[in-house]
Amino acid sequence: MLYKSTRDKNIKVTSARAIVTGLSNDGGLFVPEYFDTISSEDIILMQDKTYQERSIFILSKFLTDFSSQEISDCVNSAYTTEKFSTNNIIETVKLGDTTHLLELWHGPTCAFKDMALQLLPFLMKTSSKIIGDDTEIVILVATSGDTGKAALEGFKDIDGIKVIVFYPEDGVSQIQKLQMTTQEGDNVFVAAIKGNFDDAQTAVKQVFKDVSLKEKLKITNQVFSSANSMNWGRLVPQIVYYISCYVDLVKNGEINIDELVNICVPTGNFGNILAAYYAKKMGLPVNRLICASNENDVLTDFIKTGLYDKNRIIKLTNSPSMDIIISSNLERLLFDLSNQNDEFICRIFENLEQRGYYEIPDSIKIKINEIFTGYSCNDNDTEKTIKDTFYEYGYLIDTHTAVALNAYNKYKYDTKDETKTIVVSTANPYKFPSSVMLALVGEDKEIGEYDKLKIINDLTGLKIPKQIFSLQEKEILFKLSINKEDIIKKVEDIIDKNYFK
Ligand SMILES: *Cc1c(COP(=O)(O)O)cnc(C)c1O
Repeated sequence: MLYKSTRDKNIKVTSARAIVTGLSNDGGLFVPEYFDTISSEDIILMQDKTYQERSIFILSKFLTDFSSQEISDCVNSAYTTEKFSTNNIIETVKLGDTTHLLELWHGPTCAFKDMALQLLPFLMKTSSKIIGDDTEIVILVATSGDTGKAALEGFKDIDGIKVIVFYPEDGVSQIQKLQMTTQEGDNVFVAAIKGNFDDAQTAVKQVFKDVSLKEKLKITNQVFSSANSMNWGRLVPQIVYYISCYVDLVKNGEINIDELVNICVPTGNFGNILAAYYAKKMGLPVNRLICASNENDVLTDFIKTGLYDKNRIIKLTNSPSMDIIISSNLERLLFDLSNQNDEFICRIFENLEQRGYYEIPDSIKIKINEIFTGYSCNDNDTEKTIKDTFYEYGYLIDTHTAVALNAYNKYKYDTKDETKTIVVSTANPYKFPSSVMLALVGEDKEIGEYDKLKIINDLTGLKIPKQIFSLQEKEILFKLSINKEDIIKKVEDIIDKNYFK
């Protein structure tokens, strides 16, 4: 199976090449030429398999240039019980009659990004080997909080790969910041960018585009790549858990084989929900996809109107990993729904760059509305959802998951749809102690983050993950904060002077 660029269908590469390169040279994203299907028999057979075995089965349908041994080595190195706090890797928790929370945060950094970023380094190393390329890879990451830490943890001390993370000084939680600035490893570098996530992302894109820096790297046998969800290697592991969750629901008698389910996803860059769409495309019985946003509701508006308008100011919310205005992976959905019309994709994304908006024709809007529903909520609603869920079910959720659950509750109220629904839980609540404590006790307190962890623990009895609790003993290793205008010079310095530890 080959992968095409969304902006030029004639560019076709293997999965190994797509994973090593990250973004296509024409600025497009790589997508598979076609989607293999899974049948009811496959679902039944998967019931007796482990998460790792299910992953190998599904990844094999996409990474056709990898050998089975290579795929299983990657999977078995990534999803280990040393790194994940549950043998099952993911867990599903039932809340009420129709709601099944899919917990994706049992990995080392306590957010769902680990599901992909624990596997990606192994996929990347193997891809380099497959294409016979020994170029050293420099991963550049702009993060809204969780990707940065998950990339650092996934890539640390991996031979032949370096990783540089930029996070926005305004707009990550204190715990998220500490997780990154205390990162150990011989091949990592972390810096703050003055500004918000879009500033960080735009700055990192400048580096990718800088021809002279690229040339310079080439001389020393190095190349930039990305670990953002634009990379196919980030998306493909995410398809697995939707299928695996469905298999578990069948296995536990919660649904019948072939029964339709809805999937509700707290959304930022549109990566996670796109993986759910791809699972549906492969034949997973999915009814509706509910796209949940915080007050940065550009996607809710888009699903409603067909107009994508980024001319708005980013709001800093209590679900910071979703404070995003440009949802990059929407490009892959639109490519698919336009019957792979690369000219159309080029046209609308040129519009987005030049005018800050684009509008899709009715024919595509209708297709979106057949599958997607969008809802958004503000910080107050998010807090209320955390509180209500805890007092009703004794179950604590983080702010991002609360945005999703709030969306699902509204959807169910509006539609009276009783279809069983998988609501994706993307982070451990202890990653966002200030907001979660405020939600539970109703007032902020002038106390440190660790005291907040303890208050939440006293109130809920939920165990504090040790990797979060132990942050307070760690030394801050990265203190640099830069202006976005200086990023190219800085990256050059980091590489030239080998600032990696
Ligand atoms: C990244 C992230 C999201 C958004 O996921 P996308 O794939 O960017 O849509 C939601 N919740 C948490 C906790 C995240 O880290």
